[in-house]
Amino acid sequence: MSGAGPDFVAFDRVVETRLEGWTRELVEYLAIASEGGDPAGLRAAADWTADRLRRLGATVEILELPDAPPLVVGEVGDGPRTLNAVQHYDVQPAEPLELWTTPPYEPDIRDGRVWARGATDNKGELLPRVWAVEAWLEAHGPLPCRVRFLVEGQEETGSSALDALLDLRPSLREADAALIEGGGLDLSGRPTIVGGGKGIVVIELNLRTMTQDAHSSLSVVLPNAGHRLVQALATFWDAEGRPAVAGLDAGKRPPTPAQRETLARMDLRELDDIRAEWGVERFLGGLDGVAALEAATFETTLNVQGLWAGHTEATPKTVTPAEAHARLDIRIVPDQAPDEMIAAVRRHLDAHGYADVEIVAREGEPAWWTPPDHAVVTTAARVSEAVAGLEASIGISMPGTVPMHQVCARHRVPATSLGAGRADCRAHAPDENIRIEDLATATRITGRFLDAFARLPEVPRVP
Ligand SMILES: [Zn+2]
Repeated sequence: MSGAGPDFVAFDRVVETRLEGWTRELVEYLAIASEGGDPAGLRAAADWTADRLRRLGATVEILELPDAPPLVVGEVGDGPRTLNAVQHYDVQPAEPLELWTTPPYEPDIRDGRVWARGATDNKGELLPRVWAVEAWLEAHGPLPCRVRFLVEGQEETGSSALDALLDLRPSLREADAALIEGGGLDLSGRPTIVGGGKGIVVIELNLRTMTQDAHSSLSVVLPNAGHRLVQALATFWDAEGRPAVAGLDAGKRPPTPAQRETLARMDLRELDDIRAEWGVERFLGGLDGVAALEAATFETTLNVQGLWAGHTEATPKTVTPAEAHARLDIRIVPDQAPDEMIAAVRRHLDAHGYADVEIVAREGEPAWWTPPDHAVVTTAARVSEAVAGLEASIGISMPGTVPMHQVCARHRVPATSLGAGRADCRAHAPDENIRIEDLATATRITGRFLDAFARLPEVPRVP
């Protein structure tokens, strides 16, 4: 393509006329309970996704491996550039069901929103990308680039098979850019854009101190596993509650000038919002201002998800537990390796005299960040601003984890968020929802991105 881009009048008209039908389609997709670990639900959602992509005119392939939900691949358009749209059809468990205003898999439309599990994460972020392609084909004809949908079914449970699924067709990783599963507007409607997400390592610590539980009168002479695990864990954080395990910063890249500039431009009021939301007066270690933002962005976290030992029911029981367990997550940044984090925890336990605490690795995904001044990130910001009418805020990383490393790292493909999910969408929580108006906004933003991406003079690889 050359010259000025399309004016999007015809495109926006298609979005307007189709929105009602598209919303019904989302409702149908959301009625499929595709919770992680439910093979029948996942299969039904994979089939629905594949059918939808076929109706779009995409060439569809379903990649399978034993014991993993299928990866649905749909490719549409051609042209010199390829954009990988990385999505998922699995959803978080809907429990606790009693906290939902309407049942999670009986999508309800009220107050201009669709309410159901997956409404934003990720079915309501995936479909606007499909619709953007559909609207483009109808309004303008052939796509300006190739769009490849990579829709997995294991995102909410760690994407552990994604690398192996992609290895079945290594060419799927060959792309010029990638879209992270969704994107956001803040509550004032201001677009927020990021070029990646943190990685994560989940480990379980298991400890057994004797062959079976004992009568608690013997606790004066028998080793209580609960006591010992708590003592081991107490060495993991300093008196301020900050991680004290040596080696957790292994492999980290120092912040680049562009990242530092981005941090300095970020809105510090966000910190007040966090303190107010969680009812705390100060952050750990007295962190505040840019230093707090920097820590939240660049530091490796070490967090107990849960710990359990002995008798935890409502009624007392005089028992000395023989085993104790804790589950921890460690959020990592580029270029940290999950194995090195586990090795650091192992060394720490051994050095403190807790060689008997066993570590079991549950999950491990490296981080993938695209520089905030990269052309695909700034282009996503520009087209979002054009649709939303407000200046975009560019961040460095989502605080959470998305499987971009698996898709992008091999060929150093840049990635960006793109879409219109809102902070009050209640992803992962009861009453998940998406505004119908934002379904249209995301579709309009995505259509403009396809055009702007295809026109970029060059799309550099991530350094
Ligand atoms: Zn998601």
